[in-house]
Parts: sequence; C-alpha cells; structure tokens
Amino acid sequence: MADDKQTQTYQGYEQGPICPTNDVYSLLLRLIRNCPWNRCSFCPVYKKQKFSIRPVEDIIKDIDLVRTYIDRLLKENALPIAFDQERIHSIYTSFEVRDRVAFNNAVKWYAAGMASIFLQDANPLVMKPKDLLFILRHIKDCFPEIETIATYARSSTILQLPDGTLEQLHKLGLNRIHVGLESGSNLVLNRMRKGVDRFGHIAAGKRIRQAGIELYAYVMPGLGGVDLSIEHALETAEVLNAINPDVIKIRTLGLSPSTELAHWQLRGMFEKPGDAMIATELRLMLETLDNIQSRIKSDHILNLFETVTGRMPHDKEKMIGIIDRFFELAPKDRILYQIGRRMGFFKGLEDMDTSSRMDQVQLACKNYGVTPKNVDQILDRLMMRFV
Ligand code: SF4
Repeated sequence: MADDKQTQTYQGYEQGPICPTNDVYSLLLRLIRNCPWNRCSFCPVYKKQKFSIRPVEDIIKDIDLVRTYIDRLLKENALPIAFDQERIHSIYTSFEVRDRVAFNNAVKWYAAGMASIFLQDANPLVMKPKDLLFILRHIKDCFPEIETIATYARSSTILQLPDGTLEQLHKLGLNRIHVGLESGSNLVLNRMRKGVDRFGHIAAGKRIRQAGIELYAYVMPGLGGVDLSIEHALETAEVLNAINPDVIKIRTLGLSPSTELAHWQLRGMFEKPGDAMIATELRLMLETLDNIQSRIKSDHILNLFETVTGRMPHDKEKMIGIIDRFFELAPKDRILYQIGRRMGFFKGLEDMDTSSRMDQVQLACKNYGVTPKNVDQILDRLMMRFV
C-alpha cells in the first residue's frame, strides 16, 4: 500500500531554479520547493511559488535514480562520451531511462567529476533534523567519495536548529553553507523584510563556523538605497568583522521589475544608488573590514568589478586600489567601462586596453545613445537581464 501511494505521488527527479556560481557543476538535489520565507522585498526568485517540503522518500528516489544512471555510465566506461551527444543518446535509448531529468543530471555530473552536491532550494535546513540526517547518510552511502555538500540557509533557521545539529550534519558531509546576509544594518534589514537583524546574522554566522562548516556570506552593495548607503557599508563591514566568514561574496543589487522594491522605486519610496555611489559604498566597506581572514569574491556580472577579489587582509589595498583607479578615469572612459562591464566585455579596468573589445563598447554606447545623464538608467536596464 505504502509503495502504491509513493508511486502515485512521486513526480520524478526535481531541480530547482538556482544555485551558487560554485555549484554549476554540482549535482542539484531538491529537498524543498521554493522559499519558506519568500518576503524579501528585493528578491524575485520564488515569488508566487508555493513552498513545500518534498517527501523524504521522493528525495531518496532521486538519489537512487542518479546512482543507477551513474552505474550505467561507469559500466559503459563513459568518461569520454559524457560530452558526446550521439553516444549519450545511444545509451539513453539502449537502456530504459525512466527519468530524463535525472539522466541528464547524472550525465552532467559524471562529466564534471562528481565532486559536489548542492541541496536546493532556498533553505533546506527547515526540514526536520532527523530527515536531513537520514538524507545525508543516504548520500554518503551512495556516493562515499563526495568532497562537498553545500546548501543555502537563512540565519534565522540556523538559530532555530537544536544544539549539536549543525555538528551532526557536518559529520555526515554538509561542509558549506551559503547565507544571504545582504546587510549588517538593522534599518536596511528591516526595510527589506529580511526577517533577521544584525545580531541574528552574527550569531548564526558564528554558529556555522563553530560547527566546522564553511560559511559563504553574501552582501549586497546598493541595498541601502541612497539614504542608507553609508550606514549600510559601515554596518555590513562590522557584521562581517564579527563573523569572519570563510568567503564574502559580493552581489550588487539589481532591480527586478517583479519585486516589491522595484515598485517602491517607481513610487519614489526607494532610490537605487548609481554605480559611482555603489563603488564608494564598496570602497568604504572594504576599508572598514578589519582583523578577518576572509576571501572576497566578486564573481557576478551585476558587480561593477569582477577583479575586486582576494584574501583579507593581504589583498585589501589592492582591492581598494581598483576602485580608486575607476574614479581616476576620465568621465567618458568611466561610462565606457560601466557599459562594457554590464555587456560582459570587461571583467576589470585592464580589459579596456583590449582594443577590439573597446571598439565594440564604443559602438554600443553610440547605438544606445549613452550620455552621462542617462547612463544609470541604461545600466539598470542592462542589469535586469541578470537578476
Ligand atoms: S530568504 Fe532568500 S530566497 Fe527567500 S525571499 Fe529572501 S532572498 Fe529570496
């Protein structure tokens, strides 16, 4: 009876919409659907999507399906074929593939070396700890060589976990947690309906690190708006100083039209800072970081400088220097850099020396009719493609 019921309810292998940039080659394993909070004013990802926790038996079936397909690929000695569409298709048709999504995920993961798994969607640690432990144990049994198991989590969820749970999860393989801090300012966090204050962020961040789990902390330049820009920069740096995350990820605010924040902007209730103010904010945050050893990563197209990356404190001056050089550019070159960056031609200022790229950017600026007056508006439109 129980089996019949499970067969009826199981919808096949599921995959959520997003994962961190580090996990594009990870196996994406969906434990929950969407976000249990779903109230942050700037976040478009799960809006209008219903939250649910997937049944543990369905998640186990997903894991088993991938194991079955991996075994088959191994039997076919399929390493070189992972990129060969014809052979993938012949394997696909030669044995009964019950689940195309699971098969495709298995092929992609196999080709990438099967080093890591990412647990989706927004906050899987809301599941019962005993279920999470059961799932992790099953992953370990099926894939004992896995190096990294990562997930997203909210600070408030981390704080609600019973004592010792993070340590148990870590023992069974969970070794990286991505937390969206966004800001260290209570005014900003409140306004954005983040559902946690700066003290909650600090306590949760420390808890993750004390459990021996790597913490990736995301901060969002621009989220303070024009009015709270300085406060946002200073207090975010203070929270990061208190936590000392393993990695600080910079992800600049981009306004998606479907968000509450975009509506606030239209009604004059929020003013998104332009690039120059955001660069100043980032500089102030970097300058205020102190006594931490975090790595800083800026690997997102929404960020004005992908090259602002390095380890604290060693690379602090180098990172600040990049921002200073941006401000030393002549106004017309600054605009060229901004447009070229958001069109994907430039990662850093040195890319402006490549004449072929510069020619394309100059042409684009001419075609868009970019002027110092409209540059921020045009950039906002370009950035919308990546939110
Ligand atoms: S908790 Fe994360 S996923 Fe959920 S609404 Fe906020 S930013 Fe979006």
